Amino acid sequence: MWVDVAFNLPLREPLTYRVEGEVPVGVRVRAPVRGRVLTGYVVGVRGNPPSGVAPEDLKPVEKVLDEEPLFDGRVLSLAQWMSSYYLCGLGEALSAMIPGGRVQREAPVPYDEPAAYRRHRLSPAQREAVEAVVSCTHPMFYLWGVTGSGKTEVYLTVAEHMLERGKGVLYLVPEIALTRQVVETIRARFGQDVAVLHSRLTASQRLAEWRRIVRGEVRFVIGARSAVFAPIGDLGLIVLDEEHESSYKSGATPRYHARQVAMHRARTEGALLLMGSATPSLEAYHLMHTGRLPFFHLPERVAGGEPPRIEIVSLKDHPGPLSKPLLREIERTKKEGKQTILFLNRRGFAHYVGCRACGFEMTCRHCSLPLTYHRAEEVMVCHYCGYRTRPIDVCPSCGSVDVRYSGPGTEQVEKQLRETFPFYRIARLDTDTARKKGVLERVLEEMESGQVDVLLGTQMIAKGFNFPRLGLVGVVLADTGLHMPDFRAAERVFSLLVQVAGRAGRFMPGGRVVIQTYLPDHPGIVCAREHDLRRFYEEELAVRKETLFPPFSRLVRLVFRGRDERKVERDAGGFASLLSADLPEGVELLGPAPCPMERIAGNYRYHLFLRSSSLAPMHDLLARTLPLFRPSSGVHLEVDVDPVQVV
Ligand code: ADP
Ligand code: ZN
Ligand code: ZN
Repeated sequence: MWVDVAFNLPLREPLTYRVEGEVPVGVRVRAPVRGRVLTGYVVGVRGNPPSGVAPEDLKPVEKVLDEEPLFDGRVLSLAQWMSSYYLCGLGEALSAMIPGGRVQREAPVPYDEPAAYRRHRLSPAQREAVEAVVSCTHPMFYLWGVTGSGKTEVYLTVAEHMLERGKGVLYLVPEIALTRQVVETIRARFGQDVAVLHSRLTASQRLAEWRRIVRGEVRFVIGARSAVFAPIGDLGLIVLDEEHESSYKSGATPRYHARQVAMHRARTEGALLLMGSATPSLEAYHLMHTGRLPFFHLPERVAGGEPPRIEIVSLKDHPGPLSKPLLREIERTKKEGKQTILFLNRRGFAHYVGCRACGFEMTCRHCSLPLTYHRAEEVMVCHYCGYRTRPIDVCPSCGSVDVRYSGPGTEQVEKQLRETFPFYRIARLDTDTARKKGVLERVLEEMESGQVDVLLGTQMIAKGFNFPRLGLVGVVLADTGLHMPDFRAAERVFSLLVQVAGRAGRFMPGGRVVIQTYLPDHPGIVCAREHDLRRFYEEELAVRKETLFPPFSRLVRLVFRGRDERKVERDAGGFASLLSADLPEGVELLGPAPCPMERIAGNYRYHLFLRSSSLAPMHDLLARTLPLFRPSSGVHLEVDVDPVQVV
């Protein structure tokens, strides 16, 4: 017989091979492609070769890897949708969806006994929310509730309801390591039927879990972004917690967004997509307020208490990195026997190293970006490509010794903290310190049990967890990101501040938040201080409407990269002419232009955007033009539908 095989390559059509015996759709095979032997997915079987092809022209499959199929028609049609929505190959879609583990028979995931837990009696507001969700006839519902309003309990009650009716549940969180408490609760409550897909599973363990789900042994799956593909049969509910999180968007081809995939699954599989956040994305807010997305609002914390008082400290008046007012608050918090979290979205010691005499700036030799000084290792590092070089004390350009290290990172703030408060117990969490296995878990445990006075970290500590003794949250610099040429910069800063503030005083009245900034009048910062979400959304929506950015348009971004700048520029220009020759009514072409980050890891980068009020005409246009485009050798084209980062 003959099989159609899809590979992890940008190919529109599967390739056909000869195979001995019966092979079902859904298994993986090894087969020769362009002089290499690759693993691919069998997406079709046929009794005859494709018309016009002589049987002897078809190569044989070298090896069949699986006995049981890894996917069925439902997964395959999801992959087909991915391929047409995200403009990628079918095999690229399948590779993003299915774990690429080895053919090992069993790699069972070790699960500890779940801890006992106490179920809460639902508050009247939570009961009303549950009622609203389960009686919803629309495929989507939004739970907009302030931090601490008890959204999790609502999700779980709805999940229980679905499981009782024999339906499957998919529960998505931005980052599984930071949702330990939720995972524990879910396992305690729903027992053996739960699969937890976390980042520390090996590929084989992931595949073993995938097989358990395919066989129907699992009815409840919890995991991060890629868990959205979990092949749960008879799906009743998809929970998407922290809907606004940009980590739901994949950074590699296909650049899918778990929210978009979840919407598609909810519609096609007849499930309910239940999204929730304290700070909905602007898109979600817009849908809610134009009546296209039913929602329920939980405006109060279950445990009661006022929202925290937020104080803005202008770094123009109070020099940093830790201003006097912030240091005073840290001291006061410690005296009250409580804990502080300090948040700074920059690791390393200094983010700007330059010469005061001639203005020379240390940048990466492979990227058009400044290097970061890491003091503990005595090295300058590029945070984009990893390039490392020795720090300088003499300017390589003019020989002056007036070299300045500025733009403090977590390492420098830690140093200042330790010098100011030598007897405090201080912990730092960023990708530098959390690289060692177990460090993240240990520090979080120490924080929970009160063995840490001040926890300093990057955005990894900003996400949903609860510390019972937390009294103060300090944002060391709110402006990181606001200078980015990205239309979502203000939204990102705003939601981060509101989320971070929500951590403070979650369990006790009188929690405090201090935000340090050079831009005390920025609307994102002012609205966060005032807890005025609606004003921020309305003002930001007005800006988006005026500039025609999402949610008032849809975007497709095309990024060209390669080592030879002339070729990259020429290809971007060439593709732009292809597009403009065929541009449908209502579709706009922006660019080409160099990306804000012009060069990363030795690759020059140019981008162009398509913009329109809906995706359909852009999908059609690209489905026509992409096959006509042959990039120069060494030039790569990345297609990003609904881009989130535009740098
Ligand atoms: P959210 O996800 O909305 O930020 P959580 O679901 O994490 O809030 O709930 C905040 C805290 O309130 C948690 O510690 C949770 O255990 C507790 N909680 C939730 N529901 C109730 C309830 N009905 N009664 C008492 N405590 C509750
Ligand atoms: Zn100089
Ligand atoms: Zn670099």
